[in-house]
Parts: sequence; structure tokens; C-alpha cells
Amino acid sequence: MDFNLTEEHLMIRDAARDFAITELLPGVIERDEKQQFPDELVNKMADLGFMGIMVDPKYGGSGMDTISYVLIMEELSKIDASASVIVSVNNSLVCYGLQAFGSDEQKQKYLMKLATGEYIGAFCLSEPEAGSDATSQRTTAEDRGDHYILNGTKNWITNGGRSDVYLVIAQTHKEKGHKGINAFIVEKGMPGFDIGPKEDKLGIRGSDTHTLQFNDVKVPKENRIGDDGFGFKFAMKTLSGGRIGIAAQALGIAAGAYELALKYSKERKAFDTEIANHQAIAFKLADMATEIEAARHLVMKAAWDKDQGNNYDLSSAMAKLYASKVAMEQTVEAVQIHGGNGFVKEYHVERMMRDAKITQIYEGTSEIQKVVISRSILRD
Ligand SMILES: Cc1cc2nc3c(=O)[nH]c(=O)nc-3n(C[C@H](O)[C@H](O)[C@H](O)COP(=O)(O)OP(=O)(O)OC[C@H]3O[C@@H](n4cnc5c(N)ncnc54)[C@H](O)[C@@H]3O)c2cc1C
Repeated sequence: MDFNLTEEHLMIRDAARDFAITELLPGVIERDEKQQFPDELVNKMADLGFMGIMVDPKYGGSGMDTISYVLIMEELSKIDASASVIVSVNNSLVCYGLQAFGSDEQKQKYLMKLATGEYIGAFCLSEPEAGSDATSQRTTAEDRGDHYILNGTKNWITNGGRSDVYLVIAQTHKEKGHKGINAFIVEKGMPGFDIGPKEDKLGIRGSDTHTLQFNDVKVPKENRIGDDGFGFKFAMKTLSGGRIGIAAQALGIAAGAYELALKYSKERKAFDTEIANHQAIAFKLADMATEIEAARHLVMKAAWDKDQGNNYDLSSAMAKLYASKVAMEQTVEAVQIHGGNGFVKEYHVERMMRDAKITQIYEGTSEIQKVVISRSILRD
């Protein structure tokens, strides 16, 4: 067992940290306020190789491991969780899904552009009637020989308005239940594919969330991912890796808020001394540091499992469950340590508290992570 990061990992972490501080930090409050998608910054992240971190260089990616991915996600999320979710969805849901399960033709046509950041991708599983219960897909994909006809609605889709490529899950053989589900590559602009208005959200407001409508959208058969009926498995396998990215996002939000609270506690004075000298504040910081470190170990373990080729369904669910709980609880504490200043935008921690909440909801709520974990431990 080796807890040390390699030289290469340290360099990648530092590059992400520098980028977050110099590029993401300056406009983060404004983007949150105006719900502004960071177009220019996405281009810059693409230049750094952050849009295809784990993709094989032969498909335009950076060829890094999952440890590198979580280090980048943590550093970006310390400053701007809206920017990091764009990276997370593109990397672990879209690029990973295509690299692991796409045909060579699909990789040449779509993955190359997604990994270099020329394209942005979205992952479309959730529906108004199918959130936690993803098996009850109402979107249909009717087999018409050389093509499918897609009809239905997807909601809460991250990168929904900005994407070029959408991986869409739909039901083809209703009688087969989840074994009749397929996954498709849908391009923006295909006739019948409409993008609804942007959601006005509590947090990650710089990210782009939309409802999507499919009305008789003709999708060529070669755009189906994997064999007929592979779609549900595709979604579950892909989400399992996605949870490592969201766990790292939660870790970053918690660590970012902690760093701000630590600094503030050494500067702000009350009762003739820095507030860090009051044991109630020092103990809060001790709890924060300990829980964040525990979350980091779970996140790293899940990433390591994936890199080793181990099954990571359990470790990724545990990492997401715990890191998101730490993010929620510790951002509340960071606001408390800032007192009144914690309640205004200028000090950043109120945004982090709002951003933290989503990590307990998307890519499987905390309750669903407990379903995954309890099933696994009861089976073994
Ligand atoms: C900002 C944002 C971005 C998102 N991005 C995407 C995206 O890019 N792609 C995508 O496909 N989806 C996305 N989602 C959707 C997200 O994954 C779902 O909201 C989430 O899975 C929960 O589904 P739901 O909202 O339908 O809640 P429901 O499934 O209706 O759940 C409501 C409550 O019931 C609980 N619950 C449900 N079933 C059980 C059970 N069996 N046991 C215990 N408790 C249970 C839930 O945990 C939750 O607390 C996004 C959502 C948001 C808010």
C-alpha cells in the first residue's frame, strides 16, 4: 500500500489548482448569479486535456488514470463546482461510455471530438416519471429496420443546451422490462429533437440544465450503443464510474469551504483573539479536516479500484454517499465559521453550501447509494 502520489499526479493536481485559481475564481460569483455557462473556460479546460482525461490518446484523449481524474475534479470543485460538473459528465458519463462500449466507428466519429473538447456531451437517463427508478423508462425507441424512432421526454439534463452529442436511454421492447432498453447517440439538430428552457437552480448555477423533447426523432441503427437490449447495463456501468467523479466533486466542495474557513478563523477576531483560538471553532475545524480526509480516502480507493480493473460498484457508491454528506455538513459549518460574512456572496461559502446539495441528489441520490451498498454487503 502506498499513500503517496506520483510526481506525475502531483503535477496534474498542481496544474488543475493553478487553472482553478487563475481562471475559474475571478468570474465564479458572477457566473453563479447570472447562471452563465463558462464557454471560454470550457475551451481552456479542453486545451489542458481536461475534457478527455481518461480517453486513450488514439481517440484524442489525455490517456490519464482515474486517480488523475479525481485530483483534477477535486481542484476544480474547490473553486467552481459548475465548471467541474461539465468536466465530470463529459468525462465519466459520455467519453467513458463511448470508449468502453461504443463501436470503432462511433469512437472515430464522436469520441475523438468529445475527448478534445470540440464537442460537449450529455447523458440522458432521467425522465419526469423515471428518476431513481431508472428501469421505468417512458421514452421509446421503435425499431424500424435501419433506424429507430425516438419519442419521449428527458429532464434535468446537464450540458443539455450546450451539447453537440447526447447519449439517450430509451425503451425498445417494453415486454422485456429493463432488458429491452437501449442507449443511442443523438446529435443536436436532428429533426424532432427540441431543447426546453434552462432550469433556474439552487446551486451549480453556472452549469446548464434542460428538459429535452424527442418527437419522432430518426436515429440511424449504427448510433445504438452495444447489442440490442444493452442500454440499461450501459447506463448502470457508466453511472458507477460517474459516481467517482461526483464523489470527487463533493470532496472538492468540502475541501474548498474548509480552506476558506481555516483562513478566516485565523484572521477574524472576537473577544480580543482570533476566532480559531476559541475551542468551539478549533473543534469544528478538527472535525472538518478529519472528515474531509476520510472522504478523500474513499474517493481515492474507488478511483484506484477502477484503475486496477477491480469491481468499483461498491467503492464508488460508498465514496459518493460519504463525500456528499461531508460536503453538505461541512459547507454549513464553513458558513457558520464565517458568521454574517458567510451569508453573503463575496465570501464564497454560501455558494459552496448551495452547490454541495446537488451531490446528494444526482447520479443516484444518497438513498439510492444506500440501496446499492446494502444490496452488495447483504449479498456477500
Ligand atoms: C441539477 C441536476 C442535474 C442533473 N443532471 C442529470 C443528467 O445529466 N442526466 C440525467 O439523466 N439525470 C440528471 N439529473 C437527474 C437526477 O439524477 C435525478 O434527479 C435523481 O436521480 C433523482 O431522481 P428524481 O429527481 O426523479 O427523484 P425521485 O426518484 O422521485 O426521488 C425522490 C426521493 O425519493 C427517494 N427514493 C426514491 N426511490 C427510493 C428507494 N427505492 N428507497 C429509498 N428512497 C427512495 C429519493 O432518494 C429522493 O429522496 C440531474 C438532476 C439535477 C437536479
